[in-house]
Amino acid sequence: METTLDSPPASAATEVTSPKKVEQTEVGNYFVSNYPPFSFWKPDQVHVVEDVLQRPAPADIPLGVYFHIPFCRKRCHFCYFKVYTDKNAGEIKAYIDAGMREMESLASQLYLKGRKAHFVYFGGGTPSYLSVPQLKDLTNRMKDLVPWDEAEEVAFEAEPGTLNETKLTGIREVGVTRLSLGVENFDDHILETNGRAHRSGEIGKAYNFARSLGFEHINIDLIAGMMNETEANWKVCVAKAIEMQPDAVTIYQMEVPYNTTMYRQMKEEGKVTAPVADWQTKRDWVSYAFDEFQKAGYTVTSAYTVVKDPKRIKFVYRDALWEGADLLSCGVASFGHLSGVHYQNQADVGPYMQAVDAGNLPIFRAYETTADDRFVREFILKLKLGRSEYGYYVAKFGEDPKQRFGPQLERLAQEGFATLDAEGVTLTRDGLLQVDRLLHDFFLPQHRQFERYT
Ligand code: SF4
Repeated sequence: METTLDSPPASAATEVTSPKKVEQTEVGNYFVSNYPPFSFWKPDQVHVVEDVLQRPAPADIPLGVYFHIPFCRKRCHFCYFKVYTDKNAGEIKAYIDAGMREMESLASQLYLKGRKAHFVYFGGGTPSYLSVPQLKDLTNRMKDLVPWDEAEEVAFEAEPGTLNETKLTGIREVGVTRLSLGVENFDDHILETNGRAHRSGEIGKAYNFARSLGFEHINIDLIAGMMNETEANWKVCVAKAIEMQPDAVTIYQMEVPYNTTMYRQMKEEGKVTAPVADWQTKRDWVSYAFDEFQKAGYTVTSAYTVVKDPKRIKFVYRDALWEGADLLSCGVASFGHLSGVHYQNQADVGPYMQAVDAGNLPIFRAYETTADDRFVREFILKLKLGRSEYGYYVAKFGEDPKQRFGPQLERLAQEGFATLDAEGVTLTRDGLLQVDRLLHDFFLPQHRQFERYT
C-alpha cells in the first residue's frame, strides 16, 4: 500500500506542523503501511538486495515467507492492486512455477540458505482462488525450499465465495493456522455495488465450516464506509460480526487510491470527492464498532483490530515485520525485506515472468534503510498499536523517542490525541482512529517533502 503524498516539504523533523482534518474522502492513499514511503524505493538500489544475499545468514533475525496470489474472481471497485480475473489453470500453473523458481533462487543464496520460516503469509489478490491441487502443489514446493515445521503462524487470505468444504479442508491440511476472511460487509446490495464477488449467504457457511476445522485464528475483515453504507447498516454489520464470535476482527476505513475503478469513475464525472462517507463519519463508525466489541468482551489491540483473547491470538506476521524481521517475498508486486533492505517485485505479471524466465531476480525497486530510518519506522508503525514504551527503543536503538520526538508528542497530547507519562505514550481513541494521518509528523525531513495532511 503506497502512501502518495502531495503537498510541500516540511523543513525539519522536529518541526511540528498543524494537522488539518481532511473531512471528505478524496483520492489518494491514506494509510501508512511502511516506512520510508514507497516513492523513495528505487530501481538503482536493487543491487543492494543482491549484496545482502551474499552475506552469511544472521543468527538472530526471524525469517518470514510471503507468497502473492494476484488472481481474483472479480475486481472490487475500491481495489488498487494489480489483480487478474481472467487467468486459466495453465496460466496459474505457469505463475506458480515462476514463483517457485524465484523462491528457489533466493532460498539457495548464502543469506537464506538453511533457514526455516518463523511465519508464512499468503496474500493477494485472493489466495483462496487457487484450487486444492494448486494449493497443495504450491505449498509442498515451498516447504521443500524453506521448511515451515517451526512456523508460529501460517496466515492465509480468503474470499468467502471461493470457499467450500473441500477448499477449506485443503487450506487447513496444508498447515494454515490463521484464516483471514474478507467479509467487508454483510449487505448484498453494498457488496454488489462495491464490486465484491461474494454475497452474504456465503459468509456464514464458510465461517461455520472453517470453525469446525479448528483453525487456531479466524479473522474477519470489515470496511467502514463502503459505497452506499449507512449508519443503520453498519450497526447491523457490527452486530452480525459479534454474533459470529471470530477470534479477531480487522476494520479498515475506506480509502480511494488512484488505480481504482471508483477513482476512474470520479475522474470521468469530474468529481474530487469519492462517493463514500467522510473521514469523521468513518472514524465514528469504527469507534462504534470498537465500543460494541468491547462490550462483547473483545479488546482493542490496534487502530484496526479487536481481539477476543489477546493472550492467545497474536498477529505474528505484522509484529515481526514491524520489528524488522526478514521477509522472503515472492510473486508479482510482492514486498520483501532482507537485513534492513526493502524491496518490491515487478508489479505486472509479464515483466515478472520474463525476469524469472531469464534467471534474474524480478525485483523492481529497493531501499536500504539507515539505522535512523529503522528507529523512526518501528516507532511510527508501532504507534498504531496505541501504546509505545520509550524504554523499548532506548534498549533496541539507543535512542529515546521522548527526546527525539518531544515536540511532536507534546503536540499529540495538546490536541487530545495522546496522553504522555514517564514511560511512554498512549493514544486516545480519537488519536488511534486517525493515527495514519498523525504519523507524518514523525517522518524524517527528507521523507516529508510531499506532506499531504498539513
Ligand atoms: S478481492 Fe481483494 S485483491 Fe481482489 S479485487 Fe477485491 S480488494 Fe482487490
